[in-house]
Amino acid sequence: MEKKYWQSLEIYKEIKKNSASEKEAMPEFSIDGLDESEIKGKSSRRDFLKMMGFSVGAVALVSSCQMPVRKAIPLLNRPQELTPGVPNYYASTFYDGDEYCSILVKTRESRPIKIEGNDLSPVSQRGTTARVQASVLDLYDDARLKGPMKNGKQSSWKTIDQEIKARLDTLKTDDKEVILMTSTLISPTTRKLIGDFTAAYPNVKWIQYDSLPMSAMRKANETNFGRAVIPYYHFENADVMVGFNADFLGTWLMPVTFSKQFSKGRKIKDGQTKMSRLYQFETNLSLTGSNADYRYQIKPSEEAAVLLKLYNTLARKTGNTVYTAPSVKTDVNRVAKDLLKSKGKSLVVSGTNDVQIQLIVNAINTLLDNYGKTIDLNTPVNLKQGAESDMMQAMSSIQSGKAGGILFYNVNPVYDCVHQDNLKKAIQKLPLKVSFSPVMDETASLCDYVCPDNNYLESWDDAEPAKNFFSFVQPTIRPIFDTRQFQDSLLTWLNAGQSYSDYLENNWKENFFPKQKEFTSFDKFWFKCKQDGVYSFANEEKAQPAYKPARLKAAKPRKNGLELALYEKISMGTGKHANNPWLQEMPDPVSTATWDNYVTLSPAFAKAQGLKQEDVVKINGKLELPVLIQPGQTEGTLGIAVGYGRTEAGKVGKNVGKNVFGLMNTAFGTKNLLGTVVTLEKTSKTYPLALTQTHHVMEGRPIVRETVLGEFVKNPAAGNEEHEKFLKSENFSLYPEPKFDAIQWGISIDLNSCTGCSNCLISCQAENNVAVVGKEQ
Ligand code: SF4
Repeated sequence: MEKKYWQSLEIYKEIKKNSASEKEAMPEFSIDGLDESEIKGKSSRRDFLKMMGFSVGAVALVSSCQMPVRKAIPLLNRPQELTPGVPNYYASTFYDGDEYCSILVKTRESRPIKIEGNDLSPVSQRGTTARVQASVLDLYDDARLKGPMKNGKQSSWKTIDQEIKARLDTLKTDDKEVILMTSTLISPTTRKLIGDFTAAYPNVKWIQYDSLPMSAMRKANETNFGRAVIPYYHFENADVMVGFNADFLGTWLMPVTFSKQFSKGRKIKDGQTKMSRLYQFETNLSLTGSNADYRYQIKPSEEAAVLLKLYNTLARKTGNTVYTAPSVKTDVNRVAKDLLKSKGKSLVVSGTNDVQIQLIVNAINTLLDNYGKTIDLNTPVNLKQGAESDMMQAMSSIQSGKAGGILFYNVNPVYDCVHQDNLKKAIQKLPLKVSFSPVMDETASLCDYVCPDNNYLESWDDAEPAKNFFSFVQPTIRPIFDTRQFQDSLLTWLNAGQSYSDYLENNWKENFFPKQKEFTSFDKFWFKCKQDGVYSFANEEKAQPAYKPARLKAAKPRKNGLELALYEKISMGTGKHANNPWLQEMPDPVSTATWDNYVTLSPAFAKAQGLKQEDVVKINGKLELPVLIQPGQTEGTLGIAVGYGRTEAGKVGKNVGKNVFGLMNTAFGTKNLLGTVVTLEKTSKTYPLALTQTHHVMEGRPIVRETVLGEFVKNPAAGNEEHEKFLKSENFSLYPEPKFDAIQWGISIDLNSCTGCSNCLISCQAENNVAVVGKEQ
């Protein structure tokens, strides 16, 4: 019998009414507790048509994002490479402090208009994400600062440079600490420049700050392998993958790379008759969970215990040390059996920033002989280098008066740090506060000086996302506004007498060119680097470091209390791109909600609390958010996305949703998205959510035709019986059979390897200039 899929609770109810069994309609998630009114959606087909239509608001929004026309000069001397109407592509790199991607920038008449993936990159492998696709719109964002600012007012670079330089010199003479707080920097040349800067100003202390750090994994690897690194994962070499609260296809670490790797094991073509299997243990329903073959719902406090149970099950079967573990009901026998069958071809990961959890994960992967096969410690990933201890030290320096100044580059801790209010109060006392933010964000608005950085499409740089894999950032347009690259600001204050593009080229000439043997001329080497956008050096180190076991332990899962699981949305991430309307309007691939964050609750829990969709609840007695009932949410937990509640972001992103960074769990010395115990109470308010859930229904036709691998191997037409029947039937038509002589275009998507990442959605929006319609529409 054909399986019925449901896109919304409303459709589920309809299927359930007409189905012999509930299982047929709903294989996995519980929606116990829903009544008729909760299941009935509010969107109508009319709304859908409105949603797809054009709106005056969108025109205004898009037009406000146009590049300002300054001088229109006809191309009397047209550059050789420019043909009107024919695009040029330049290789570059997207890196926003969290996410990395090697890209090609499509430009038309010298304006960047579209981002594509770079197929020469061994890291991102031609992939992109929704955020990468949408980043082209940030270039034309009217919220960008048009020039340097002093005390909230427009200033000039000359004034700002003189004053900042004088203050830096005074602080150096007074031996007062100046904190340079940056995001994780993956550019070797920028790191070198910071080295020059700190050499000239020894009182400058550089720290890297990640709003969502991964320091626990680094610490665990230091304990087990003597290296504080994040390894390079190879999901493509894994027959069996197990994820614990790691949305590696959506937001965790390197989703572009992992999605590419994952899809390789899911394709059934070119004679491949095996598919990889994915087991996902998680609290919120994530994109990765929705792609899993087997999904298990666990509370944050159960994760360590379930992992230890899995480790012990494997250890018993392989004669390894077993540790005392608290009891937990989750059955791990199936996954353990599958993992043991796939030793050396499996991979277990956890996205939880907890050292104990990462130690258990390392023990399991060691037991399964996965190092050197699906996990490579010799090619460390350079993302997420921030450590919570550095931030704590910086805070204490500021509060104690040891620090006299702070410079913020590509970070916004007043918005996304756990102790935002303390930091806000503390930095106000500092005599020198400088931000390089391109917009007046929450941190920049507290600074004396804002030296707006160029957009990445106007900049030069390099990147090394993982050891020996390099890519290059090169400008595809001159700076639209009177902005200046962060690195050029540092060079100016160093009186270096050179631009950053020269500094970058010199660094490659002196330090990288001699390491390669392919080119004898630097000019040819440098041209190739810029043309391809990537360059890799061979990794000589082959043997993986030896494993040193650590004692494994897990705390007892909580019996009481409502556990919070914060998460990143694919669209909004940590909120850096909150002013990007394409991302705000992008339906979340799991909840299909746009424009807001909300509290996800399981249907049974919501019923028990007397809560309906869109009811407003209070978290910890103060934070008000609407409820979204989410099948797949673990009982006794709630999920809320970070990245919302920006108060200084621009017209689009300001005051959309609520800021929940302050609810992160810091109980174990690390910043963790999971596990804070919160209270929840109902209010009498409601708040409308904009969901696209019932849109795009197929008017009764099946959405998906499917079969299982075994049937497909026997008969490649399996699952397509309806079509076979149709071909055999006599189909009468009043009209003559149409003849198609010209080229016909179609689009096909391999649903085995499609993860639902929504990259294509934003790509289509960019390519076809689809209007943004706003939440109301
Ligand atoms: S087809 Fe699927 S995997 Fe590909 S971009 Fe679209 S949603 Fe992502």
